[in-house]
Amino acid sequence: MELAERLTRVSEPQTIKMSKLSRELRAKGIDVIDLSIGEPDFDTPSHIREAAKKAIDEGYTHYTPVSGYTELREAIIYKLKRDNGLSFTMDQVVVSTGAKQSIANTMLSIIDEGDEVIIPTPYWVSYADIARLARGTVKFVRGAAENGYKISPAQLEGALTEKSRLFIFSSPCNPTGAVYSGKELQGLAAVFEKHPRVFIISDEIYEYINYTGRHESIGQFDFLKDRLIIVNGLSKGFAMTGWRLGYIAAPLSVARACDKIQSQFTSGTCSITQRAGITALRGELGPTEAMTTEFRRRRDFMVSALKAIPGIQIIEPQGAFYVFPQISAYFGKTDGQTLIGDAEDLCMYLLHKGRISTVSGSAFGEPSCIRFSYAASIEKLQEAMSRMSQALGELH
Ligand code: PLP
Repeated sequence: MELAERLTRVSEPQTIKMSKLSRELRAKGIDVIDLSIGEPDFDTPSHIREAAKKAIDEGYTHYTPVSGYTELREAIIYKLKRDNGLSFTMDQVVVSTGAKQSIANTMLSIIDEGDEVIIPTPYWVSYADIARLARGTVKFVRGAAENGYKISPAQLEGALTEKSRLFIFSSPCNPTGAVYSGKELQGLAAVFEKHPRVFIISDEIYEYINYTGRHESIGQFDFLKDRLIIVNGLSKGFAMTGWRLGYIAAPLSVARACDKIQSQFTSGTCSITQRAGITALRGELGPTEAMTTEFRRRRDFMVSALKAIPGIQIIEPQGAFYVFPQISAYFGKTDGQTLIGDAEDLCMYLLHKGRISTVSGSAFGEPSCIRFSYAASIEKLQEAMSRMSQALGELH
């Protein structure tokens, strides 16, 4: 039986595919170090876990409002003010089962068939597929290595047409760790000012994992507030990937549309997660800061270890927990058995020969790179880098 045409517009994310492959190898007793997955290796801080236990005991076990409990949305408004200096009302906030669902809700609310969705590369894997599922036409703008994997206002201006409807980006960025400064965002905002039909999704899920000392949101430019959707969530900053909690703060019309779409797909996210989310957002950020300090130590290690490997070029990431080195110097080389044609071949070679799982840059729109997550202990990272160096050393 044939299935729906829309399935041709979506594929399984490479990140999930590589994690699955490394799990399968591990199940066969092969000791693979998995650096392909985008989740903190820390457990959720204990005060948040306690709040969840309390929620169960207090009977928070029923359906919730589609957009989330009032107290949770109040906590989100409080957080946006405290951390970002931004003001939103309750009706502008919609809680979902993760930033991924928030992005899907928003794209389904905004995009019609043929509308252009502008995505700077390298980009997070799911942006393009969700845009295509929503019947948008994806248009990439290349953030080149020379520009720290960021796009310039001139590039943005050159990409926007009368068909452009949505721009989506993440800062700090997955996969590059690039962070836009306030001035750089101002440059982009000035271009958007000339294109009033374009919505902007600012994915700020790595907000707290930022080594520049300050997170800048494009939300600071008031003149964009009628078409700016801030996406955020608890997965990364609070190590809560499995709990499933994301949210948007958006213009009222978009928030209402997302609530409507979500009411038919999932309803409100888990009641217990939401109660724990209130504690996470209102609580002190000590555990989050400690995680970020540790991520930074690992970033420093990964950057110096990768720099020491011949043929690898790397830009120091300023946030998130990934490194995205250029490895194209290895294309065309072989160990006598396997010919490395592209980044995907190199990832497979590293998986089978080096027993480390990484993700090809082509999944993120930059085929000369591969992505490592450093959400693993320093000891594991040291072992991974030594395996990598050895495996690459066999290529000639
Ligand atoms: N946005 C970016 C840039 C991400 O890297 C991820 C997860 O990897 C998400 C969104 C999705 O996060 P969530 O777990 O909240 O769905």
